[in-house]
Amino acid sequence: MAKISFGPAGIGPVKDAIKNLEGYNRLGLKACEIAFTYSVYIKENEAKEIGNAAKRLGIELSIHAPYFLNLNSEDEKKIEESKKRILKCLEIGTFLGAKYVVIHSGFYSKKSKKETYETIKMNIMKLEKIRKEKGYTPKIAPETMGKVNVFGSIEEVSRLVKDTGCSACIDFAHILARSHGDYRFKETFLLFNDLKDLHLHFSGIDYGEKGEKNHKKTLKEEWEKLLKALPINKDIIIINESPEMISDSVLGKKVYENII
Ligand SMILES: [Zn+2]
Repeated sequence: MAKISFGPAGIGPVKDAIKNLEGYNRLGLKACEIAFTYSVYIKENEAKEIGNAAKRLGIELSIHAPYFLNLNSEDEKKIEESKKRILKCLEIGTFLGAKYVVIHSGFYSKKSKKETYETIKMNIMKLEKIRKEKGYTPKIAPETMGKVNVFGSIEEVSRLVKDTGCSACIDFAHILARSHGDYRFKETFLLFNDLKDLHLHFSGIDYGEKGEKNHKKTLKEEWEKLLKALPINKDIIIINESPEMISDSVLGKKVYENII
């Protein structure tokens, strides 16, 4: 049977990381996304130790790359810096044994959606090439984004998967916010059907006209909607980013056990 792993978006500071993983394990949480959102704060030797602990505990690690990324910047230098940050995540992710490096691909800026797509596609192809040459093991996972003016609809991200061979991070809170109230489960799972395993983000969310506003506590009813919609033939990681991400992950796991 397919495996569903729940876990929070945070491992804490390096000195607490292994202790935190042990705590997650005691709660039955088998996934953890490391937030490199402001910096890549784990070094090679620390990454190896944390990776070993995660392996021993059976916890799937992933990385969230820094927020300061734009693979569609008009400034070539900014694109190069973005790529460097992603490659650094891939390198540390390899030492961690992380399965994914989740990225916010970029903004439309002044370019058309088509032009934006082509630029981001080209840059991800370049990253994929280096990833393979260097033997980095995590998959690059562009995230589906919650704000309507940010690149990353399910159509765009699923096309990147087909065109570049990258993976994806499917954030259903973002999909709900971007569509103003529809999780679009059926279409989404169909679009990403080629991926063998799925990496999801799921949390409560507030949204308005422009899409995502902020994450909030994940209600039981929302968990039920997601968990009943999951495809049955795939291993799936579900990362929670709510302000109460640990208890929300435990709730998700409980709801799941009641459904199956
Ligand atoms: Zn994100």
